[in-house]
Amino acid sequence: MTAPEPTIQQAIFRGARCKCPACGEGQLFRKYLKVADHCPACGEELFHHRADDMPAYIVISIVAHIVVGLLFWAEFTYAPPVWLHWLLWIPLTIILTLGLLPPVKGSIVGLQWALRMHGFGTSRPPLATAAAPTNS
Ligand SMILES: [Zn+2]
Repeated sequence: MTAPEPTIQQAIFRGARCKCPACGEGQLFRKYLKVADHCPACGEELFHHRADDMPAYIVISIVAHIVVGLLFWAEFTYAPPVWLHWLLWIPLTIILTLGLLPPVKGSIVGLQWALRMHGFGTSRPPLATAAAPTNS
């Protein structure tokens, strides 16, 4: 007996945990940001993903809002010297960026898998679609 197919939200969440969107058990990445060709647990094909630059754009948006917000808050609240700004915000930017890239990329791969994009889902039935509106 096979497990029911995960919902889109489950697939995205599994990807965010860097796990296979199909089973939630196998590791999604074989290296830091290299997606494995197949899930080591269930064998699902994962090489179809085309995350491209989307994870980087999302991470830039998240990190910029956090770091710039904190930077302005610190500047207007404490007015620290410039060297302290450099000491705080550059490491924070690097840590947040490197920490967020894998879960964000995993989420994108999970979304693509759930939506059967780019060759995902050739072995699964098509997504159920809403009935087209009629003019009657
Ligand atoms: Zn799997």
